[in-house]
Amino acid sequence: MKDCIFCKIVNKEIPAKVIAENERAIAFLDAFPISDGHVLVIPKKHYGDLGLCDEASLVDVIKLVKQVSNDIEATKKLDPWGFNYLSNQGKIAGQEVMHFHMHIIPKYEKDKGFMFRNEKGALNYATDEVYEFLTKAKYKSKTAKILQKATTKADKQTKK
Ligand code: AMP
Ligand code: ZN
Repeated sequence: MKDCIFCKIVNKEIPAKVIAENERAIAFLDAFPISDGHVLVIPKKHYGDLGLCDEASLVDVIKLVKQVSNDIEATKKLDPWGFNYLSNQGKIAGQEVMHFHMHIIPKYEKDKGFMFRNEKGALNYATDEVYEFLTKAKYKSKTAKILQKATTKADKQTKK
């Protein structure tokens, strides 16, 4: 997609430290790393977010996430104690680049680097209520239809 910084990386129009790729996904170092070895994995095709991404691309993205994580551990130099895997979806959730991407953030020390905060005060519903919302068949089919429509639209836009 025109004006997308990650599409420009895929098309080699701007430089990036690409470390691995497969048929439908590419992995490169984050330009502003949160920790040593912070990597982004993206589909080569432009999709705004995970919900719009075609399944074959999703499979290739997650395969590359696994491969790169193993490679990070294999360097010995980096030697993280764990990883945070993250995808911000929507501006409100912190998404700055509107091309779906997974962050691989190696974790070295408990109180440094990426922190996952569990803020219980943010809940509006009881767990049983949420369970009911999510298991209603009508809701499921409606979501599937919306996703299908959005995917077709995104595919058409990518072909332009
Ligand atoms: P997000 O906030 O989840 O959309 O993350 C976007 C990420 O892209 C940030 O961590 C940025 O540091 C990173 N980023 C932005 N521009 C570039 C670039 N040209 N090359 C590599 N990483 C980038
Ligand atoms: Zn893009």
